[in-house]
Amino acid sequence: MSSSATSFVPSVRPKDRLAVLFEEIAELCGQRNAIDGRLVEIVAEIDRDGLWGMTGARSVAAMVAWKTGSSPRNAEIVTAVAQRWEELPRCTQLLRDGRVSLDQVGVIAEKAGPGSDAHYAQLVTSATVNQLRTAIKLEPPPQPQPEPDPKPEPAPTYSKTCDDKGTTYRIFLPHLEAAKLDAAVQSHLDGMVADWKRDHADEADPDSASNQAPPMPTTVDAFMSLVEAGWDAEVARRPHGQRTTVVAHVDVKEQVASLHLGPLLSDADRRFLLCDATFEVWLERHGQPIGSGRDTRQISRRLRRALEHRDRCCVVPGCGATRGLHAHHIRHWEDGGATELDNLVLVCPYHHRMHHRGGITITGPAQHLVVTDGEGEQLSSASLARPPSTPPPDVPPCPGPTGERADWWWYEPFQPQPPPAAA
Ligand SMILES: [Zn+2]
Ligand SMILES: [Zn+2]
Repeated sequence: MSSSATSFVPSVRPKDRLAVLFEEIAELCGQRNAIDGRLVEIVAEIDRDGLWGMTGARSVAAMVAWKTGSSPRNAEIVTAVAQRWEELPRCTQLLRDGRVSLDQVGVIAEKAGPGSDAHYAQLVTSATVNQLRTAIKLEPPPQPQPEPDPKPEPAPTYSKTCDDKGTTYRIFLPHLEAAKLDAAVQSHLDGMVADWKRDHADEADPDSASNQAPPMPTTVDAFMSLVEAGWDAEVARRPHGQRTTVVAHVDVKEQVASLHLGPLLSDADRRFLLCDATFEVWLERHGQPIGSGRDTRQISRRLRRALEHRDRCCVVPGCGATRGLHAHHIRHWEDGGATELDNLVLVCPYHHRMHHRGGITITGPAQHLVVTDGEGEQLSSASLARPPSTPPPDVPPCPGPTGERADWWWYEPFQPQPPPAAA
């Protein structure tokens, strides 16, 4: 209405139009601040009473981003303020009254020292977000805690110098770590010397050994052997950034599994591990091995790529995790589920484990996936946003912080109070 009215009055100066628009922005900002305040208060209640766990979300911030359809950063700020809601009563009241913005209180909640609520409540109505950041940086660093140990152990160091011949390493380790290194090197040296002696047993005198014989292994050889062993283990552990290698013994008839030299697995853990593992599996019947598949990769690399292309992230609504994803069999292969695209979905380790423990359900086929929470209610990735049915909060317009030039020379930073003396 007002916009059509102004369009018929071409004589209104742009400056005046802008003033009207700014007036409306101030009005809306006040309402938005008050709404943000109420949102944060609700999140604080959900967090305090641990209600978010049943949603299947990985964290409070993940739940906020999901349910409000906001960015992860915005959700972090909401969560930071929510977690200090009780501790910052004055600052959060200003937010509820619409007088300061969520971002302003967010800076305080994320960084300000304990007990600083009154200090920053005075500053926050006039200071911009950047000025608040500066003010918080001027806080004295937290008092160093009285040292429980009068003589702390020297920190380990590692340095190296290179020249054209090679590299010299200097490593300083505290006694315990040094003992560990010594024992590991010694064990590799013992093994290598034993091998060498076995291979050269016929040569009575090592000093006069024939030219062809390799020299007796040295401590350096043992050290390199140690490095190689560690390196091999690491490469085997993450062949393509996929699952760890699990050695499992599976009784095909009884459908029970145990880890190699380890405990019997619960049904949930067995299915979780065998769902997507690069595993060395020993199939057994009545305790007798009937076959072994070494490094049986259930999901071929090509299938994995197709899966990544289709799903992109964890398929549990509201999650969006993209790292370290597992390929989950919707119908487990133990039950005859096929290892093919229709029966596979990508899930993050957190939700994968949660599913196999019964916290959420995932039913296929993959194109029409249904994910429910523990109560059987279907989860959707949609936010809760809908057109409002209640009037906006009745708060005055918020013109924003005055943002007057800060004279940091005269600013007195927040001084943490010394803790009350022990009784
Ligand atoms: Zn699974
Ligand atoms: Zn997930």
